Amino acid sequence: SGGQDGEVGKAQRAANEAGTEATIFSRIIARTVPATILYEDEECLVFRDVAPQAPVHFLVIPKRPIPRLSRVGPQDAQLLGHLMVVAARTAQAEGLSDGYRLVINDGKHGAQSVYHLHLHVLGGRQMNWPPG
Ligand code: IMP
Repeated sequence: SGGQDGEVGKAQRAANEAGTEATIFSRIIARTVPATILYEDEECLVFRDVAPQAPVHFLVIPKRPIPRLSRVGPQDAQLLGHLMVVAARTAQAEGLSDGYRLVINDGKHGAQSVYHLHLHVLGGRQMNWPPG
């Protein structure tokens, strides 16, 4: 994906950029939308991406619905650190011993499509640089 009709187009059409509306991820947290959940604690949830871009592709989200990385402040530092620690532990549990990639898309130019902050963890194949 990456063309106008792929993820980028979807992201650019997102009507939720301000982060004022509930997203599908709130419904996954509430268990009203199903997901394959890999880990949960009081602060975060980890589940498989429904459209995986690698053999292993999961998302780490805070339960508190922060819309996007560019909206975080110093009060969020501990939570953000926790999300990264959980990402690394889950990657290990998923067997990604040869490495993996963490991605956070922010806003239109970052091709963000769901305005509930999330870390992508992608692995199980060789990643390339630069990303598209
Ligand atoms: P973004 O482009 O960084 O906002 O990524 C959003 C991600 O959420 C995409 O990789 C989607 O495939 C994924 N996604 C959207 N809806 C669902 C869902 O219901 N379950 C799991 N993943 C989802």
